[in-house]
Amino acid sequence: PVRSLTSGNAGKERTLAMIKPDGVSGNHTEKIKEAILESGFGIAKEIVTSFNEDSASRFYAEHSLKKFFVSLIKYITRGQVLVMVLEKENAVADWRSLMGPTDAQEAKISHPNSIRAMCGLNIEQNCVHGSDSLQSARREIAFFFGDMSSGSVNFSILNYISGLI
Ligand code: GDP
Ligand code: MG
Repeated sequence: PVRSLTSGNAGKERTLAMIKPDGVSGNHTEKIKEAILESGFGIAKEIVTSFNEDSASRFYAEHSLKKFFVSLIKYITRGQVLVMVLEKENAVADWRSLMGPTDAQEAKISHPNSIRAMCGLNIEQNCVHGSDSLQSARREIAFFFGDMSSGSVNFSILNYISGLI
């Protein structure tokens, strides 16, 4: 049989996980990565970076009309973040479940073993991010790592290069 290029990843799904500035500055990184690995995720890629106002506004564009948007942008730009591509079967839903609910105060009651319960402070400073769907995961992974991470050719780069020739 012809071997598929993706044979090593059969059944695997990818999601974008991020330790937000409060998680990094609060020294929660090691604990969170341990929980990730213990839950059976592989960490396919990782990068330490930070947002500026422009990149944060693009990353959180879906929330631009919400009343908490300005506060969210201020929070997410205040320090370094650790961005990871997590890989496992059902990665998107399983990482959301390991993170717990958005509101860390609610998480402490309803999901006491979740990461947001352990490290989060409130509905905004909740220490981690996770893609909410396969489609968001694809967009968010491409946001940080480019389209190569989805196994496809990065046409925007090809178009750019061909425009130069
Ligand atoms: P998530 O998918 O669980 O991260 O939640 P959302 O996509 O709804 O919101 C994105 C981020 O905005 C959250 O993780 C919080 O950091 C922040 N956020 C969400 N809802 C609120 C809110 O009601 N008030 C404030 N101040 N921040 C919020
Ligand atoms: Mg979200």
